[in-house]
Amino acid sequence: MFKKILIANRGEIALRVHRACKEMGIATVAIHSEADKDAMHVRLADESVCIGPNSATESYLNIPAIISACEITDADAVHPGYGFLSENAKFAEIVEAHNMAFIGPTADHIRIMGDKITAKQTVADAGIPVVPGSDGGVATLEEARKVAKDVGYPLLVKAAAGGGGRGMRLAESPDKLDEALMAAQTEAKAAFGDGSVYLERYLKGPRHIEIQIIADTHGNVVHLGERDCSLQRRNQKVLEEAPSPCLSAKQRSEIGSIVATAIKKIGYRGAGTIEFLYENNEFFFIEMNTRLQVEHPVTEEITGIDLVREQIKVANGDKLSFKQEDVNFRGHAIECRINAENPRTFAPSPGKVIDFHAPGGMNTRLDSGLYSGYSVPPYYDSLIGKLIVHGRTREGALLRLRRALGEMVITGIDTTIPLFKSLLDEDDFKNGDYNIHWLENWLENRSD
Ligand code: ADP
Repeated sequence: MFKKILIANRGEIALRVHRACKEMGIATVAIHSEADKDAMHVRLADESVCIGPNSATESYLNIPAIISACEITDADAVHPGYGFLSENAKFAEIVEAHNMAFIGPTADHIRIMGDKITAKQTVADAGIPVVPGSDGGVATLEEARKVAKDVGYPLLVKAAAGGGGRGMRLAESPDKLDEALMAAQTEAKAAFGDGSVYLERYLKGPRHIEIQIIADTHGNVVHLGERDCSLQRRNQKVLEEAPSPCLSAKQRSEIGSIVATAIKKIGYRGAGTIEFLYENNEFFFIEMNTRLQVEHPVTEEITGIDLVREQIKVANGDKLSFKQEDVNFRGHAIECRINAENPRTFAPSPGKVIDFHAPGGMNTRLDSGLYSGYSVPPYYDSLIGKLIVHGRTREGALLRLRRALGEMVITGIDTTIPLFKSLLDEDDFKNGDYNIHWLENWLENRSD
């Protein structure tokens, strides 16, 4: 097993990885920017290296500085967390070229899934249902019109290199196609340096349901069920739960085995998430994330499986410690993303935390590096913690969530805690009756 792992990330996920390492007897190296010198992951790690100034480009995205930190500390593996360099194929290649393990898939798989056109073709060939649309990329209006004849309107023009909802345009009718095509191409070129786009049928009110898989290097692939991430604002997830309020055990096992079989065919290794839109009892693939997800704890809570531990083990060449038939789904878990943001305007709210009190008690988990006196830096993502609760039923989990949110105290900065408290009063949410547009509509129309 690895002796020392360098954690190429910050915040709650750096802490999450550190915790798994310590429980496995593995030493940890934290890297940090100047702004993060007092962060919890830096305090708890066995060693730490400052890799650059505040801006992410010069620190957490600075490959030469990170590799130097690995060499100075003699780390034998790198865990990239999520975001930053976690889906950068070149980084994975460079780590391996320096004789260290990259705790994630091969660079080739990161590349294939990083381009949504090749990703869609690859998974479709392996038997996963995809959103109807163009067969590959579309460069001209003429080609787009041809595809639109088969797919119908409304349709979406999407960037092959897309991420964070950018390079996506809706064409509601034929006369809007030209404009949508040009706008998506221009935005994709500006944001990603790659203007390639493709077309997809626009689904009007789907849920976002994703399947977690984990694969070892011995040909074993296991699915760990789904997460429902339909509560979104600007295509960003806000609250996630598992299992989905709308899937039956039969549907779970059907889509899970389609995905696991496909992933085995592709020869993928490590943890991964296959994201779907789900409408009228049908699944449509949209993308695959080749890394740990922010919302992985809800899966851990209902399966009892430590995903980071399993990631480390498969990167070490070990076999998965469980088979599909060993996975039992137990109860219901909900995660709230606590952001340092104004709960109404969503404006970032960095600054010094005055009082901090973490909720506790049975089946209540807080993944966060926050402490009283900590200053939330303004340079990075506003996620400061994740509150995860588990209950025997969804109703039980909702009651526990209300109790836990009530105990939690963070003063000195604004947080999204009040948003979750209000959501708990909404019947649609209580009934699990929502799709990817529900939260935005609710935010627009709330009267209080
Ligand atoms: P990105 O990588 O930019 O986040 P995704 O393909 O993952 O792009 O899509 C992000 C979100 O955009 C989805 O969760 C969904 O809300 C919406 N979306 C994407 N494709 C479609 C589609 N074909 N129909 C309707 N909504 C879509």
